[in-house]
Amino acid sequence: MIRLRIQVAHWPHRALVLTDTPRPDCRDCDGEGGFEHPYGDHNGEYAGTDWEPCGCWNENRRWPLMPLPRRPRCLRRRDTGRDPWGPDGSPMPYRDNDPISDGPLGNAPFGYSPESLQREALYAELDNAGVDLGAYDRRIVDWIAGWDFPTVATIASLIRRAGRAPQ
Ligand SMILES: [Zn+2]
Repeated sequence: MIRLRIQVAHWPHRALVLTDTPRPDCRDCDGEGGFEHPYGDHNGEYAGTDWEPCGCWNENRRWPLMPLPRRPRCLRRRDTGRDPWGPDGSPMPYRDNDPISDGPLGNAPFGYSPESLQREALYAELDNAGVDLGAYDRRIVDWIAGWDFPTVATIASLIRRAGRAPQ
């Protein structure tokens, strides 16, 4: 039996995946999904652990749904107001957010915006595009509004471009 769940995968990159999951009441693996076999080197020292998946699920049954943004740089930056990659940890030069693009994006838009403003921007674009929204649409838009600025600004740009009357 397949037990499909939506999970956040961290490899090869952060993404939402639909995946088979171990049976929680499995008597072989206790719902762990597999068994660890520590092995040693030629001196008998611990050298690593092999992972053997349990037969109660199939870890290869896994379908990517959508990529998730990496933790935005601006969040890290907010901790100290300093750019950890700067030559001497000097404060980042001030820079405005990139505006929502009217055309195709070749690079990630730069910026940071609080969730409330991102939500406003998304609803404004949807409104301008004349999109009718149901309760579940709004739930998803609210969820997307919590993502990092480059993701939200790109989605907002896509809505804008998709909603533009053909010329
Ligand atoms: Zn099992």
